[in-house]
Amino acid sequence: MSTQNPIERLANARHEFGEHGGVNMSVEASTTFTVMKPGTMPELFEGRISAQQGCYLYGRHFNPTVYQLSKQLAAIEGTEAAYCAASGMAAISAAILQLCESGDHIVASNTVYGGTYALLHDFLPAKANIHTTFVDVTDLEAVQAAMTDNTRLVYAESIANPTLRVANIPALAEIAHAANSQLVIDNTFSPLLLSPAALGADVVVHSMTKFINGASDIIAGAVCGSWEFVQGLMDLHTGPLMLLGPTMDPTVAAKISLRIPHLALRLVEHAVRAQVFAERLNALGVSVVYPGLPGHADYELLNELRCEDYGFGGILTLDLGSEEKANELMDVLQNQYGFGFMAVSLGYFDTLMSCSGSSTSSEMTDEDKSSAGISAGLVRMSVGFTGTVEQRWQQLQNALQDIGAIDAPIDSGDLSRAG
Ligand SMILES: *Cc1c(COP(=O)(O)O)cnc(C)c1O
Repeated sequence: MSTQNPIERLANARHEFGEHGGVNMSVEASTTFTVMKPGTMPELFEGRISAQQGCYLYGRHFNPTVYQLSKQLAAIEGTEAAYCAASGMAAISAAILQLCESGDHIVASNTVYGGTYALLHDFLPAKANIHTTFVDVTDLEAVQAAMTDNTRLVYAESIANPTLRVANIPALAEIAHAANSQLVIDNTFSPLLLSPAALGADVVVHSMTKFINGASDIIAGAVCGSWEFVQGLMDLHTGPLMLLGPTMDPTVAAKISLRIPHLALRLVEHAVRAQVFAERLNALGVSVVYPGLPGHADYELLNELRCEDYGFGGILTLDLGSEEKANELMDVLQNQYGFGFMAVSLGYFDTLMSCSGSSTSSEMTDEDKSSAGISAGLVRMSVGFTGTVEQRWQQLQNALQDIGAIDAPIDSGDLSRAG
């Protein structure tokens, strides 16, 4: 399907030099901007000119530094435009509020990030009279059946958290478009790996807090779509980014933009490590879910949709059978080996581990968790790239032995074949 490597698009995006010829762009610290002629001010307020023409109004509206980072995001996602927000949740809520009015209906995946689930399940019905039907989006007939005359958008994660089921983006786009709805895809788990817009999505949202920033030191988000859509987010009368005001600080934008050039290198290494772990865990009989394993329900689909250069992503899950066992494993790994950290979030250079059912998916009801396949012993692992692969694998294998999840060590001959 989408064969262009997003990195090619990114390379073609115009690079902004610093004010004094610096190789990096300058940080525009001003919150207000002068106009050369009095007539320009009304034009800015009427939205007839804006960042696209190099004209700026106010820091909560477009900021030049944030706009430059946004152009990088638009290039990565292959959309006409993008704009950044203070968090992934800000990006998601702005995108939804831009597309839906009071009384509208959403069809959403039943396996979405906990905050998104709470927004759709609790916040939006109470505050905005926007109601969501949750469905298993891998069941296209169920998606079709959930569509109503009021359905304005279909919402899914490219690779779902934490089940790692893959959204059939072209098929979902077809269902959405036939019903006069738009498809919004959260691509947080698979930047570069998947290009949802090229596959039919209308809007792509990101928590840049994760892989895109990659250092677990910044909360940030982005909305990618048409220029008209992005301008709508910033409309002075109706734009959710403009009026709710989750503004990205320009110093944050400058920092993130310096991490975008090595995003591809990082993602390749996350994926290489995750693939090795998944194959070896599978060979040991551990219950592991990773979309790069041929036994994964969506292996074929992801293989068809993905950009090959980035493997199958950097996240895997292990099912240890019970929350106690899951906690035991994470405790051993964190305290005895320095393998990684018990922490939510993902896309960090070290491995991050969390028990999804009692953390990032805890907003879901027990019933919804079980229908989505999120069991109590499920450990989500965002595989880091520090240390050597063999060092980290040995640590994981030893920890699994310590807690009795696997038997005797296997010999190194088997290891090299499994890898
Ligand atoms: C973390 C995350 C979010 C929320 O992003 P924040 O930057 O924490 O607001 C949304 N979607 C997914 C898939 C996430 O992993």
